[in-house]
Amino acid sequence: MNLSEQYAHDLDAAHPSATRSKFIQLPSDSGAYPHEAYFAGNSLGLQPITTAAAIKDVLDTWSQRGVHGHFTGGDPWLNYHQYVNEALSRVVGALPTEVSVMNTLTVNLHLMLASFYRPTAERHRIVIEDYAFPSDSYAVRSHARLRGYDPDEAILRLRPRAGEDLLRTEDVISVIEQQGPQIATLMLSGINYLTGELMDIAAITAAGRKAGIFVGWDLAHAAGNVLLSLHDWDVDFAAWCTYKYLNSGPGAVAAAFVHERHLADPAIQRLEGWYGNRLETRFDMSPLIDTPPTAEAWVLSTSPILAIAPIRASLEIFDEVGMPALRERSLQLTDYLLALLDELATRAPLEIVTPREAARRGSQISIRIDTDVAAFARRMDENWGVIPDDRKPNIIRMAPIPLYTSFHDCWRGADAVSRELLGQSIG
Ligand SMILES: *Cc1c(COP(=O)(O)O)cnc(C)c1O
Repeated sequence: MNLSEQYAHDLDAAHPSATRSKFIQLPSDSGAYPHEAYFAGNSLGLQPITTAAAIKDVLDTWSQRGVHGHFTGGDPWLNYHQYVNEALSRVVGALPTEVSVMNTLTVNLHLMLASFYRPTAERHRIVIEDYAFPSDSYAVRSHARLRGYDPDEAILRLRPRAGEDLLRTEDVISVIEQQGPQIATLMLSGINYLTGELMDIAAITAAGRKAGIFVGWDLAHAAGNVLLSLHDWDVDFAAWCTYKYLNSGPGAVAAAFVHERHLADPAIQRLEGWYGNRLETRFDMSPLIDTPPTAEAWVLSTSPILAIAPIRASLEIFDEVGMPALRERSLQLTDYLLALLDELATRAPLEIVTPREAARRGSQISIRIDTDVAAFARRMDENWGVIPDDRKPNIIRMAPIPLYTSFHDCWRGADAVSRELLGQSIG
């Protein structure tokens, strides 16, 4: 393993990024380098340079056309949310009719659970991972309570084996096989926010569906990060935000996926609002809804046009690159960072939590350091111009983002960990 800084520069020269210049790099006042080495794109992606113009476009239509902006101009607002469906469907491996942008992630989880948590006398349990993101845990617990169940009993939380950090696919499948008849819904994270573990979505979905369970995925950390085939994998439903790997800005509008087989089902239950009407009948103002056989039937409200504009700008970049090429670069960067951290782990007190095999992770590497990780992350930033993020009690997360992270950034990331833990450069 070549640990030198020069080797990182050589890697950048050999594998230049086609898209780094499309993003605004954060200025750094650490004095070490002019820009921050940014590893928190799994929390909030950097801003594409085209985002401001996309928002300005909407502001101009508003100031020039007022209410007519809904129906006239180059991009009428009436069906504005549809403009992203094609590009978004390519990111997650879906049909354009199976996806929609709306609301925020937790809201979409609730809307999906309203449709796909249908407890019966025999089946009423919901499976999540024990260390699910808190919002997901609250969402399933509140649905159980809403339908009259005790959440402590109804929610089945999957725990890793004693002494292990990660869930094994075979253990998830064995719970499905053994307890399947009691389980109504399974809702796991495609990639766990804490450990960075990528689940075997295809295998778990197949096992769940075979057991008669509705299978849904929270893809907050997977969409725009790894290759997904939601349609072909027969996933029932999914939801994800667009401010993490999809670089659409703080609190950006989220998305949802509903499999084609549910779209034409007249018996499907869901919570509805007037934007769930077909475009042709939305303004008939009928007391009865007339939904299209698409995921847009789940849309409730007037589209937040200003908040969807950044998604359009960002997805244009995804379309230029394509998910396969993006994943390939992601693995190159992450393999390099992982090798540096692995080497460091032989002489410094840190432990790599994320699985090493490429098929079981995205770009995020979670490391465990028994220290005050919030202070540790702050020092990485202030002293070395490196931005990771931290999760209590002892996890530092670092995610190289293939669209804008360089190999040299990865070297700086590992170097900052080395300097803070050992007081010396990694190189
Ligand atoms: C980021 C994230 C959320 C955040 O939900 P919001 O409604 O967007 O605040 C929820 N669940 C998971 C798994 C996440 O990673």
